[in-house]
Parts: sequence; structure tokens; C-alpha cells
Amino acid sequence: MRRIDRRRRERLRRRVANIGVSFALGALVATLLTDRLQRQVTSRSREPLSIAPTGENDSSSGAPRAPAIEAAAPSMAETIGALGSRDLLIPVEGVTAKQLTDTFNDSRAVGRRHDAIDIMAPRGTEVHAVEDGTIAKLFTSKAGGLTIYQFDPTQTFSYYYAHLDHYASGLAEHQPVKRGQLLGYVGSTGNASESAPHLHFAIARLGTDRAWWKGDPINPYPLLAK
Ligand SMILES: [Zn+2]
Repeated sequence: MRRIDRRRRERLRRRVANIGVSFALGALVATLLTDRLQRQVTSRSREPLSIAPTGENDSSSGAPRAPAIEAAAPSMAETIGALGSRDLLIPVEGVTAKQLTDTFNDSRAVGRRHDAIDIMAPRGTEVHAVEDGTIAKLFTSKAGGLTIYQFDPTQTFSYYYAHLDHYASGLAEHQPVKRGQLLGYVGSTGNASESAPHLHFAIARLGTDRAWWKGDPINPYPLLAK
């Protein structure tokens, strides 16, 4: 009788040990999988191209921009005020303030605001830097076509020039530029109509991360049309 008991106990102990090992392995696999998944998610969210700007129809940014400037407290108004004192240049050669139209609040896609102005001009018209700064990014997107992101000297704002026909020769990222410097030429790349070449121009207040594809939209019209 005792012998049988001992055997039983021995079997039971082994079974328990086996279960313990299986459980530990399972937990290890689960931890590794979770860790890997988390890393994938993190790296994906760091990928700028997946939320990169697309230009025209989506108001120059695939990422949702802040819905309204008005919502962003008085500091934003002060920031815009500071920008107003900088005397921004109308970026398209030969276009006067009177010829500009305010299309900032137009809708360009379902539920999307334009968040930019369109400056109509013949293909090949020169596009100039609105002020001093740096070329932050030369980017080609489906909607915006050939585009330029320029940061201002304080890296507070980005200036976005889209639908370009081509860049000025030698234009490169990180290059410092001067107000009035030739950046490129008006075109209809991206989703602009072939028969209506224009410059899609947008201004954004950059976030603290200085990410070129993000920012709070600012209406360029009152800044250029004064
Ligand atoms: Zn536009």
C-alpha cells in the first residue's frame, strides 16, 4: 500500500512540475510577443512618411492638424502678431496683394479645410522664399506634388510651397535661404488641375518637436495681403 502511495505521489509531483514548466514557457513566449508588438507599434508611429503631408486636398498635411487657431489661447494670437511684423513676401513673382484671394477656409475634401491659399500663375512663374530661413524638407507627395518645407529663422513656423513644376537648381535640404530667393517654379504637380497651375502656400506654427510635417495652420492671406 505504502509503495503504491509513494508512486502516486511521485507521479503527481512530476505532473505538477511539468505544468509549471509549460506555464513558465508560455509566459515567456507571451512576454516576447507583446514586447515585439509594442516595438512594432512604436517604430510605426515614429515613421514620418505614414503621416506625411499630402498637400492640396488634405490641407497640406495627412496628419490631423489642430482644428482652429482660435482654440489655441492668446499666445497663438501673439505668435501670429509677431509673424505679421516680419513683412512676408508674396511668394509668386509678379503677383500683387490685390490679386490674392482668401481660400484658407474653403473645403477641399469631405470635412477638411484648405488651410492654405492658392496663388494662380502661369506654369514656370518663379516662386520665392517669403522670408529668411532654412529648407527643412524637399518632399514629393501624391496630393501636394513637388513641395518645399521652409522653416523661419527661429524655427517657430514652417512655410509650405506645393504643386511646384520643378525646384530651383541646387536647392537642397538644410540650405539657408534669404527672403526673395528663388526656390522653384509654379506648376500643377500632385492633384492640382493641369489647366490651372498655381502655388498652394501654407503656414504652420511648428510643435516643440519641430516636425516639418506637423503644426497648427495659420492663414497666410492677412499676412500677405496687407
Ligand atoms: Zn491649395
